Amino acid sequence: MPTGKVWLVGAGPSDAGLLTLKAKGLIQNADVILYDSLVGDAILGMIPPGVKLINVGKRAGHAVMQQDQINRTLLNEAQNGKKVVRLKGGDPFVFGRGGEELELLAEHRIPFEVVPGVTSAFAVPAYAGIPVTHRDFCSSVHVITGHKKDADKPDVDFDALVKLDGTLIFLMGLGALGHICAGLLNAGMRPDMPAAVLEKGTTAAQRRVVSTLERLADETKRQQIKTPAIIIIGRVCSLSDTFSWTGKRPLGGARVVVTRPRKLASRLSARLRELGAEVLELPAIETVAIGENAGLTDAIRKLKTYGWVVFTSQAGVDVFFNKLFESGTDIRTLDGIKIAAIGSATEMALNKRGLLSDCVPRTYDSVHLGTALAEVVKPGERLLIPRARIGSKELTELLDRHGIPYDDIPVYDTVLETNDLIKPELLFEDTVETYVAFTSASTVRGFIGITGAADYSRIKAVCIGEQTAAEARKHGMHAAVSEEITIDSLTEKIIQLHTTER
Ligand code: SAH
Repeated sequence: MPTGKVWLVGAGPSDAGLLTLKAKGLIQNADVILYDSLVGDAILGMIPPGVKLINVGKRAGHAVMQQDQINRTLLNEAQNGKKVVRLKGGDPFVFGRGGEELELLAEHRIPFEVVPGVTSAFAVPAYAGIPVTHRDFCSSVHVITGHKKDADKPDVDFDALVKLDGTLIFLMGLGALGHICAGLLNAGMRPDMPAAVLEKGTTAAQRRVVSTLERLADETKRQQIKTPAIIIIGRVCSLSDTFSWTGKRPLGGARVVVTRPRKLASRLSARLRELGAEVLELPAIETVAIGENAGLTDAIRKLKTYGWVVFTSQAGVDVFFNKLFESGTDIRTLDGIKIAAIGSATEMALNKRGLLSDCVPRTYDSVHLGTALAEVVKPGERLLIPRARIGSKELTELLDRHGIPYDDIPVYDTVLETNDLIKPELLFEDTVETYVAFTSASTVRGFIGITGAADYSRIKAVCIGEQTAAEARKHGMHAAVSEEITIDSLTEKIIQLHTTER
């Protein structure tokens, strides 16, 4: 068996946008990923289904995997021919024990690569408006661990640190904050030296305490700052107010959970991230084309007998045209056949294939589609409706009432995609404004299926369409509805709610 390979990859401090292109490519092509607790949730959400995931951190109550056990797992997986990604928060070589993890691999001649990441040491201050160096304030920056490897080893040399007169950044130091501040004061650092503690940097939950060396520990305790957090000491901290920027973005401080089929989620997510939101993709439903689909094959064979093809979703468009192509034919077969689309997204999917729609209802739902069709379908014209197996009955009932003949052909199933990477507790964290975007009633049901919580009253649902909102309210959520049935309008609604909330 050919030997596999290990990539030691930095995931950055949390914000998905700070993942390197190289890291993204690797996590999407890995066989096995070992990750720890500092890897951002949005980044975990990018891992495709089917990858073997090994949690080696303290997530969801799991015990920590011991370092030698991690090393051995990396070795074993690689020896089994696997592409192994060891995904670590920040940069793997900055207090990441990356070196230790490579030793055993080197010894066994396992090929490996190292992919540096954006380290929290510099990125977290940047997200708090603190430049780690500034010509007016310092000429060096130092990254120090606040965690002692051995309890009886000598401590940090505070005298030396004070003499350096540079910016000091302590990682893993929150537990020793009092000790660090006292050490620096005793070594002669001025008590009014600007200093800060930065919690959960680059996430929607990020908080900062900006104070002075003398008061930092008390202030941090008062504000109940928790890990992960970095400590930064130096005159550059005084710039934080002037340069803070994350909260000024329209969706700064907002966490938005996007529940759409994975393939469709990216445009909405990208837009929300642009506006400053932390986006967690929870692909609650996935559309899967029905494999051996005799009904569709038959319908395509006799396509010329239809007057209309009616599309009720992008997924329907995709499956139909893929099948058409597989059958050895193309859109020219549609010559003379009219096309209807339920809404703008479906219409856009058709446009992408070079087709215009002859009928799109003004309000994008099945009832309005049925009504619009009833007005334009000529006597004798038969409709082909390639759609979800559980398509809404409203459309077909309306057509029946108007005596319009149709073939309702199931072309895909909507299935729940389980995703145990995103913890339900993230959805209920009370310090962060959390919104859940729902684009259909089935995404609400999918969300309930995945999260399985007892109480949804804290969830702020932002919905496309009244039907979706009704489903959300049925489960006890607070539901707001976008003015229009478009992604842009949904985005607007979230901004509006977040602005009011702040
Ligand atoms: N290799 C990592 C650091 C690992 S040590 C890196 O390059 O960033 C773990 C420490 O990093 C934590 O105790 C904390 O001090 C810091 N840290 C990591 N992510 C952080 C974040 N998002 N916000 C604040 N501190 C963070």
